[in-house]
Amino acid sequence: MAENVDAKIVIIGCGIAGIAAAHRLVKSGFTNVQILEATGRSGGRIKTGRLGNTMIEIGAAFIHGPSEENPVFCLARDYNLLDPKTLTPENQAVDVGEYPPLVPNWFTSSGQKVNPDDMNPALDLFHVLLENTPQSKSHKQRSWPSVGDFLRSEVRRRTAKRWKDKDKHTRQLLLGAISTMLKEECCSSATHSLEDLDLVGFSMYLSIKGVDCTFPSGSEGLISNLMSELPADLVSYSRPVRCVHWGCSESGVNAVTVECEDGEKINADHVIVTVSLGYLKKHHSTLFSPPLPGQKLKSIEKIGFGTCDKIHVEFESRWWDADCEIIYLVWDDEKDISDHVSDISKNWVRKISSFNVVESSERGSHVLCGWISGHEAEHMETLPEQEVRRSITELIHRFTGDLTIIPKRIECTRWFHDPWTLGSYCHPAIGCSAQNFKNMMEPLPTRGKQQPLQVMFAGEATHPCYYSTLHGALLSGWREADRLISHYSKTSPLHSDQKS
Ligand SMILES: Cc1cc2nc3c(=O)[nH]c(=O)nc-3n(C[C@H](O)[C@H](O)[C@H](O)COP(=O)(O)OP(=O)(O)OC[C@H]3O[C@@H](n4cnc5c(N)ncnc54)[C@H](O)[C@@H]3O)c2cc1C
Repeated sequence: MAENVDAKIVIIGCGIAGIAAAHRLVKSGFTNVQILEATGRSGGRIKTGRLGNTMIEIGAAFIHGPSEENPVFCLARDYNLLDPKTLTPENQAVDVGEYPPLVPNWFTSSGQKVNPDDMNPALDLFHVLLENTPQSKSHKQRSWPSVGDFLRSEVRRRTAKRWKDKDKHTRQLLLGAISTMLKEECCSSATHSLEDLDLVGFSMYLSIKGVDCTFPSGSEGLISNLMSELPADLVSYSRPVRCVHWGCSESGVNAVTVECEDGEKINADHVIVTVSLGYLKKHHSTLFSPPLPGQKLKSIEKIGFGTCDKIHVEFESRWWDADCEIIYLVWDDEKDISDHVSDISKNWVRKISSFNVVESSERGSHVLCGWISGHEAEHMETLPEQEVRRSITELIHRFTGDLTIIPKRIECTRWFHDPWTLGSYCHPAIGCSAQNFKNMMEPLPTRGKQQPLQVMFAGEATHPCYYSTLHGALLSGWREADRLISHYSKTSPLHSDQKS
């Protein structure tokens, strides 16, 4: 690698992908790197907050698969951000797929606390099915285009025999638990319904070994550590980009001009775009001039981007078991197996599948994190805080049968209405293929004699198998930095050559 490369590189977005790209470029000798960030902070979808005295994660909370293969785990370990249990070889060796074993409490909508063992048949069946979704286009796939179709039809088929001898109430409860699991999976995939998830596309996601862990002092610690190793003036905050003019050169020197909302124009040799897929879906036609090529537009359309929100609720005291890690809610009055609700404005709260118990070092902290996805989450985001509080209080009263439980504080996330994200993370929507993810990461221009690598793409939705995650986003940033590093090592001495 040539030292002190002065090619001008503008990175749009200061989330983990943008920071990772900048970090690698700066460490490799690039001296002219600038990040333009729309908001007043770095981190993007990594955002740590507080509810009372308890630390909460507004965005990403978990390292999925904390082991050597996961670069977020390795960084967090090197920055000393993890607790000792996470670092043990045993913890790293566990292969749990996507389902870390959590100690559950189960409550039903008729106010009953159910023995967790009684719900195991539903849990076991659901996980077996989900881990064995068909991975190739077979004749069966035509009858099951979506993950939802496959799961619902297989649950019906298998339980018809297996649960035949169970009484009506037990069967209803187990099927209700299946609906709860479907809703939980909607949160994992940030989708409205599993009917929107492509059955074959679903198996593109790869999990990494290790029991999911959190950052005990907050995920923003990862950001502050990385940022501390970058020049202080590298990021321009509150600097939204309006348009990337590529494919020609206004000044005759640089191939790309980045136009900011405030009218300023910045010339660059390369631009790395890391804005969310939600942002690209809404703004691609104004964000790029000339417009993006057809293949890129098709991928932006085909890959889904949905909402998963969190509802943090603080209580005066604990009403769940001391060892409980997750509370599942089962509606025992629903006839069909379903992951979405009818009449969203009235029933949105039925979409909440579960509450995680938030671990805290704070004494006397009793905070739960509820999960909600899809149009129900998007509706919740429009409601006044008092309305959300009233609905959550009623929900808890109904499931516990205890009218004395009153939430102390409530805070819900609003990722769909965040103008710089417009949702939570991506998923393989119906008809989405591996090619769509490959097209997402393709730099522009794709061919011709123009200067190469004018516009490059990073961010979670550009990773072919770790999309939707922190490690996918981080790796995508490194990938694009490496593309430039390798480009300049091939063409070195670069700048004079490149610019003439
Ligand atoms: C509720 C929630 C929970 C999650 N939980 C987990 C989890 O537990 N584990 C996990 O691995 N992942 C999780 N994720 C996903 C993870 O947070 C993301 O995959 C990752 O943070 C995305 O990083 P990124 O850099 O690709 O995008 P972002 O973090 O979105 O960064 C993009 C940046 O671009 C900026 N931007 C947008 N438009 C412009 C513009 N026009 N001009 C300039 N700047 C602009 C934005 O402000 C933002 O800072 C979660 C996400 C959400 C929302």
